[in-house]
Amino acid sequence: MDGLTIPHFVLVPLPAQGHTIPMVDIAHLLAERGVTVTFVTTPVNAARIRKVIDRAEAAGLPIGFLELRFPCAEAGLPEGCENVDLLPSLELTPAFFRACGLLREPLLDRLREPHQPPASCIVSDMWHLWTQGVADELGVPRLIFHGTGCFPLLCMRNIRSSILFDEVNDDTKPLMVPGLPHRIEITKGQSPFFRQDPESERLWNEMLTADEACHGVVVNSFHEMESLYIEGYQKAIGKKAWAIGPVCLYNKNEDVSVKAVRGNKSSDDGLQCLAWLDSVAPRSVVYASFGSVAYISPSQHVEIGEGLKASNHPFVWVIKPREQSPALEQWLAEGFVESTEGRGFVIRGWAPQVAILSHSAVGGFVTHCGWNSCLEAICAGVPVLTWPFFAEQFLNERLMVSVLGIGVAAGVNTRTMLMGDEIMVKREAVEESVRKLMDGGEEGEERRKRTKELGEKARKAMEVAGSSYQNMTDLIQEVSLHNVKVRSKMGR
Ligand code: UDP
Repeated sequence: MDGLTIPHFVLVPLPAQGHTIPMVDIAHLLAERGVTVTFVTTPVNAARIRKVIDRAEAAGLPIGFLELRFPCAEAGLPEGCENVDLLPSLELTPAFFRACGLLREPLLDRLREPHQPPASCIVSDMWHLWTQGVADELGVPRLIFHGTGCFPLLCMRNIRSSILFDEVNDDTKPLMVPGLPHRIEITKGQSPFFRQDPESERLWNEMLTADEACHGVVVNSFHEMESLYIEGYQKAIGKKAWAIGPVCLYNKNEDVSVKAVRGNKSSDDGLQCLAWLDSVAPRSVVYASFGSVAYISPSQHVEIGEGLKASNHPFVWVIKPREQSPALEQWLAEGFVESTEGRGFVIRGWAPQVAILSHSAVGGFVTHCGWNSCLEAICAGVPVLTWPFFAEQFLNERLMVSVLGIGVAAGVNTRTMLMGDEIMVKREAVEESVRKLMDGGEEGEERRKRTKELGEKARKAMEVAGSSYQNMTDLIQEVSLHNVKVRSKMGR
């Protein structure tokens, strides 16, 4: 690529870890291919990925990190909210989206600064609908980055466009997801759209229909896992979907200390957990972690802890800071930590997840089925125990368990965003499903084999000439060609 044709991708992630982390990986993948990248972020999120930013700068990668103040006060959000963990505390509220939309003018101003190379395209998170206006203003294509796969995306579109789910009153009755070439069932209570307020309803509608207005879609997935659904999704939106993942593999050769801080400063700074894993038998450890947003109540934590303990497997268990409570601390201190000493490792805070999953001692992952967690498990060849909470996580669970056959369901019946002290899965069920995941006889062996094979396919997809690598090449070429055409039309 010469100076004129080097494309400039402007990446606009949602200011939340699960959305920012894969975009950081995409930024690196693009930059390693010689593309100029501007990564738009907020100061809070920039602080989280500081080490990554420093490393990109030190390596001379052409990634610029553009920090925009999150306009909380102007959007009617509580003062000082720009300093908190945005998504878990604010959720996807209208005020949150209003604040995001107010980033439009500052972003345009910064992108028009004389030293900035002209933008070639905007790749923005699916929830940043306002970036279509930025792209139009700059005369460049907008590509949507979906933080999830084509199976859940297609299911969501099909559920929305059918009246089946509206017609049924029973929230617990299994219903067939329409329009798939095979049978997949979920209940109304597990649907991403269950009991939504009208405002959220409107936002989901807008988000899903925006696909049809954009230039194309970028998905963190790979053909070997989802080809049927990628094709189905492209057909449904009438646009190209470039599957360029799993992007978490970009740093597969990195030193473990770098891998550990993807996305946040780890609370296990000394990486003691990884040192402990070195001392444990291969594939014997269960890793339990529920992403960055889902909230686990103190009583549910006790059930998880007791279930893990009773399973007799060694475990690494992550408890988020906002889930910590005096009651939980007391329970941990009153015997749990002592009785599991040498066999259990509790991390309070941000765990080095990719590094843990990649460790040969880990043989199973209890996950909330966030898309990144699912892909990270696949890449590490680790089967999952699925414990979805909300959004499209139940659909991800179906993909892991019913379609790919690499997961065991914990048996969560309904969507939950509870902040109370409810229990969704009791200790006996936790114990039983952990045993099934980790032991599971012939069935367990088959599951492990399938996961490993899928992980191999994921790696191949990301290698030079692999399907995702090739799709990234096509994407860069598509944007470059688009720009050449636009420039020649304008006589520049
Ligand atoms: N993550 C991590 N350590 C933690 C919690 C989360 O590294 O203690 C990372 C995890 O590896 C994944 C992302 O945060 O990359 C979470 O994204 P996911 O889509 O799984 O779930 P979300 O947090 O968006 O619900």
